[in-house]
Amino acid sequence: MEKKEFKSESKRLLDLMINSIYTNKDIFLRELISNASDALDKLYYRSLTDKKVKVKKEDLLIHLAFDKENRTITISDSGCGMTKEDLENNLGTIAKSGTLAFKENMSKDEKTDVIGQFGVGFYSAFMVSSKISVVSKAIDSEDSYLWESEGADGYTIKKSKKKDHGTEITLYIKEDTEENDYSKYLDEYELKTLIKKYSDYIRFPIQMEVVHHELKDEEKKEYEDVIETETLNSMVPIWKKSKSEVTDADYDNFYMDKFSDYDKPLRVINSSVEGMCSYKTLLFIPSHAPYDYYNQNYEKGLSLYANGVLIMEKCSDLLPDYFSFVKGVVDSEDLSLNISREMLQESHSLSLIAKNIEGKIRKELETMLKKDREDYISFFKTFGVQLKYGVYNNFGADKDKLKDLIMFYSSKHEKLITLKEYVDSMKEDQDKIYYASGSSVAKIDVLPQVEQVKEKDYDILYLTDYVDEFAITAITEYENKKFVNVESGDLDLESEEEKEASKKVNEDNSDLLKAMQEEIKEVKEVKFTNKLKTHPVCLTSKGDVSIEMQKVFDAMPNDMGIKAEMILEINEKHPIAAKLKTLYEKDKDIFTQYTKILYSEARMIAGLPIDNPTEISTLICDVISK
Ligand code: ADP
Repeated sequence: MEKKEFKSESKRLLDLMINSIYTNKDIFLRELISNASDALDKLYYRSLTDKKVKVKKEDLLIHLAFDKENRTITISDSGCGMTKEDLENNLGTIAKSGTLAFKENMSKDEKTDVIGQFGVGFYSAFMVSSKISVVSKAIDSEDSYLWESEGADGYTIKKSKKKDHGTEITLYIKEDTEENDYSKYLDEYELKTLIKKYSDYIRFPIQMEVVHHELKDEEKKEYEDVIETETLNSMVPIWKKSKSEVTDADYDNFYMDKFSDYDKPLRVINSSVEGMCSYKTLLFIPSHAPYDYYNQNYEKGLSLYANGVLIMEKCSDLLPDYFSFVKGVVDSEDLSLNISREMLQESHSLSLIAKNIEGKIRKELETMLKKDREDYISFFKTFGVQLKYGVYNNFGADKDKLKDLIMFYSSKHEKLITLKEYVDSMKEDQDKIYYASGSSVAKIDVLPQVEQVKEKDYDILYLTDYVDEFAITAITEYENKKFVNVESGDLDLESEEEKEASKKVNEDNSDLLKAMQEEIKEVKEVKFTNKLKTHPVCLTSKGDVSIEMQKVFDAMPNDMGIKAEMILEINEKHPIAAKLKTLYEKDKDIFTQYTKILYSEARMIAGLPIDNPTEISTLICDVISK
């Protein structure tokens, strides 16, 4: 029979898996049990919503068996099963997003990371198996199929003869090696312990035929073993247990299993509400971004249960976009089982739950910020962009809920601070909140415009994310203090005399400045300034669109042509000012060359592209070789 190849990325991942770089091999069992439970959930849900599908609740089972001699473990379920296509698609591919970045010579940690990123899933079984066979029959199908694989070099599929719907997976356990004791998985006690540890909350019975070697009926069955079916799990969902019954490790294990994460969550939020609409929630703030978080296809949402029955895997209405990273479950007794998606969206109970959940998450974050700053900073570095995005999204509708959760780098404190902390440490004579934008702290720190504000000993917030300035613009002011971009034209930091002097210089040189502006038409104005301390030139902007914001607009696929109104400012005290004045009188050609060079310098400092680099480079060479 023809062997089919795994998709190439799956093959690499499988290679890593088979060569067992993932240290916690135990998890293979919870992955398979969890898949079986999902398959039972799917079938049960179908039976509630589709009259053609009839199942009895007591027939929904997971069965576990092992055979020491033949070194096999079998996990079977009476769930929805898989068609031939399902087997091909679900078990032939691992890396669903197709963006797996394999590097040559990856370190062990990096490899573990790659596997972790994708949730270990079905393939984790290859960590302990030399061969896996899957027999499955889909609920709507007459036929059943056998999928078999011995690892990375491919798999086969052929027809088989399974009577009932569901899936049966047989693992052929590897021989022991010096480092690894695989035989332990062929032990009753070990398997029971693993089920208790990782899969206790699974809502369907996990049954195992257990051989009792003790004598039961001495008269009849002397020296005979007695076989009994035992249910290994307590079946109480973890969110239905009281907090005192559950350890932190239980929550962590549940989270890692259910949401396929290789790391513990940063926070667990557990709550129970009684009232008009009673429900329980168990929410998790991940400690790092899910691998597909910044992918367009990422779906936010919480798993929604109606009295223990999963009715929706990812109910997006339960989470606002700015908390889209939160994972978890909601279980309510007051939701009807066969409620349709459309009805659910309009459900009053659901919006009530959503509102409450939003508040709970916000409160948790506020507490973390107050009591455990290190954790919060780590959280903010991972998900802060999402919060800032939330500030300006929906025309700023949610900004008041979020403005105390966002942080920016402070020039004075040299670390991330909140807006409240900025305002609380403002100098007495300061009445504005200053900020500067750029691609990195280091780059902003050397901006000419930053110098003047620093000289006044005012703190400046450094905005380094593309969303930052949009968020700030949406907030507009904090505790009656307006936000001002230090790169904007008129900062109003000069004394009256300085202003007068500046005005006079500009009036006296209006012809020269006009001549410069004619040469560089993108610029709305050219002026002398006394705010630049050591730098010769800079670009500032006036109006609502700053230069940094223009860069964001420029990078958008549908360029709307939104431009900043730029001003070229020249340091009046710099020797270049005198040089320009002389050239303007004596040599208009060289004056034009200087204008172009200075404008390019200012663009370079602002991080804007130079449209005519060859021309500018020739000009500079001409000038310096004179
Ligand atoms: P995940 O469970 O994260 O989607 P897996 O690699 O564990 O990834 O499984 C891939 C898919 O194979 C599942 O999403 C499911 O559609 C299917 N599958 C796995 N095990 C079973 C099973 N026992 N019954 C039905 N479908 C299954």
